[in-house]
Amino acid sequence: MSKLITVIPGDGVGPEVMDATLAIIQASGAKIEWETCHAGASIFKQGLPTGVPQSTLDSINKTRVVLKGPLETPIGYGEKSANVTLRKLFETYGNIRPVRELPGVTTPYTGRGIDLVVVRENVEDLYAGIEHLQTPSVAQCLKVISEKGCEKIVRLGFEFARSQGRKRVHCASKSNIMKMTEGLLKRTFETIASEYPDIESAHIIVDNCAHQLVKKPEQFDVIITTNMNGDILSDLTSALIGGLGFAPSANLGQNIAIFEAVHGSAPKYTGQNSINPTALIFSGVMMLRHLGEFAAANAIEQAVIVTLESGVLTRDVVGDAKATSTTDFTQAIIRNLGKTSPQYPSRDYKAISLSKVTTKPASTPAKRSVIGVDVFVESELSPEALGKALEGTLQGLDVVLKLIDNRGTKVYPSPGTQLDCVNAFRARIFKTESESNLSDAVILEILTRIGREHRWCHVEKLQDFDGKLSFTKAQGED
Ligand code: NAP
Repeated sequence: MSKLITVIPGDGVGPEVMDATLAIIQASGAKIEWETCHAGASIFKQGLPTGVPQSTLDSINKTRVVLKGPLETPIGYGEKSANVTLRKLFETYGNIRPVRELPGVTTPYTGRGIDLVVVRENVEDLYAGIEHLQTPSVAQCLKVISEKGCEKIVRLGFEFARSQGRKRVHCASKSNIMKMTEGLLKRTFETIASEYPDIESAHIIVDNCAHQLVKKPEQFDVIITTNMNGDILSDLTSALIGGLGFAPSANLGQNIAIFEAVHGSAPKYTGQNSINPTALIFSGVMMLRHLGEFAAANAIEQAVIVTLESGVLTRDVVGDAKATSTTDFTQAIIRNLGKTSPQYPSRDYKAISLSKVTTKPASTPAKRSVIGVDVFVESELSPEALGKALEGTLQGLDVVLKLIDNRGTKVYPSPGTQLDCVNAFRARIFKTESESNLSDAVILEILTRIGREHRWCHVEKLQDFDGKLSFTKAQGED
């Protein structure tokens, strides 16, 4: 029986790479039917701010499998990315981005045997997209990372490694600086790694990971990382094997999968019949394996390899003079269906099992108390003047102004250094020893008093969970 999938051709070069991919899948004999839907630029232009119409959501809800071309994102302000909207609305929490050295595609790394996968968390982190202007000239973006999200991506990474017989999993994080958010991924990784004794595991700081990927990429097998890190690292890893034209991806969630190239709409190549369609073709191969069409998947993968080995290459690999057009490249792959490359055997792929994480979070404190509050204040005053003013404002309440910082660095009481302050300050206010808990009533009184003299724009409770502080110190805070 044929399987129905949702196809979104996408923007820019999307329709060209999608036509190539669908022609090859059709020629492979895979039992697939598609329903074509739209999202992205054409939909934004119709005035729909999400860029994803209901008819597309309905189709995905029905098919649960999507092959998607790149979608253009308006840059700077206004509408959200339709890509991110799709990933988040369907909670495709894991983004799998494999790269493998390809025959015929010569790079400075040729012969090193690069064969690695970035497993990128796909719905949390800075991509939660919770951004505000704290003041007219100071912007913030919340980095939201949950224990559940970490557990899901770490388990997916290990299960994926097992399903492909991979032996080594790294966790790449910036936990040395962002101890609570990135640190949560590291701690979760280290806990769960013990459940996979058959797989070697190691943590690496993400900047060193980037450095090591350029220096000695063959040491990596699977890299689990947060959303933003994964976005950047996976563009880097695609460059190691020939560029974005060769980098496929799968966005996976419970009972939902969206397959797409890592690259975007590459607008400067639109309509030129010169773009490399391999990344989407390989995404289609990943989709076929997801659907259990292993024979068709292997046949297409091998046909692409044989084509590359024969020297039929697109502009991105050989330059304009020797380039094969997108459509001729596609026809060459179709002609090579059924041939195999002895140098590049397909892996023995198995379905990935996505473990359900339904238990309540491990971190459920028996005791919690509010010990203070961070109030973010817009002010043109000097730190000294603002500090003195706030101390006056808080007089008579059972609280103390511990410090004021500017972009996370203590400026009051003066640490003896000079900072080029901006007009968004954070006032860290603690309850006094005599109080066991800072009540909401006192917090409201603090805000009301501060609000009479200054503009406050944001407030954050400072909590204690079973003796563990729920916040990090400011730079320079003792
Ligand atoms: P891009 O479209 O990925 O293109 C960047 C560069 O990568 C191209 O100029 C080209 O490099 C190379 N490239 C990309 N795809 C290629 C292919 N198939 N074959 C050969 N080379 C390829 O990135 P962008 O220009 O930053 O983004 C354009 C738009 O796409 C933006 O609106 C962005 O938001 C969106 N985007 C969407 C997705 C998605 O749908 N998942 C992902 C990323 C970006 P050379 O210039 O060196 O030839």
